[in-house]
Amino acid sequence: MSKELYPHGFTEIMKRVVKISREVMIFFESVRRNIGSVERCGLLVGETDEEIRIFEAFEVENTRKSQVEFELSPLETLRIFEYADEKSLEVLGVWHTHPFWMARPSAKDVNGMENFPGVWIIISENDVKAFLADEKGYKEVEIEIFNVPHSAPSSSQSS
Ligand SMILES: [Zn+2]
Repeated sequence: MSKELYPHGFTEIMKRVVKISREVMIFFESVRRNIGSVERCGLLVGETDEEIRIFEAFEVENTRKSQVEFELSPLETLRIFEYADEKSLEVLGVWHTHPFWMARPSAKDVNGMENFPGVWIIISENDVKAFLADEKGYKEVEIEIFNVPHSAPSSSQSS
C-alpha cells in the first residue's frame, strides 16, 4: 500500500472528527457485542474533503486468524479498492478488533499505520475508537454519527 492511495492526505490536515454513517456504527456495535476470540478486520470506504465521512465498512478475511494480530486478505482488499474506484469513493482506512485488549493501537498496529495511513477504527469489548494515523504517529479523534440521505434511485420505496 502506498500513500498516494490517500489523495487528500492526512499528514498536513489536522482533522479532529471522523464522521461515520449510522449504518456503519450499527455494524461496529454488533461487532463489539460479538467480539469473539479472533481479530476481525476490514476496510473503510467513504470520502474526504475538509472532513472525513465513512459510508461503508467492509469485513475482510484476517489471513492470520490470530487473537492478537490481523492481516487483510490481499485479494479481498483489491476488490474493495476496485469497488471504491467504481463508486468514485476512497478507501480511507481500516477497522479491526482487539478481542482481549483495550481499543488502543498495539505496537504492531503502529507499524501498520506507517504502511497504511488514514483512519484506524479499533473495536474492543467495551469501546469503538477512531484514530488518525500517518508515518509520524497517530491521534485519537472523535466519532460523529451522521445519517446518509436516501437519495439513490434504487432506495425509493413505498411505505
Ligand atoms: Zn490491533
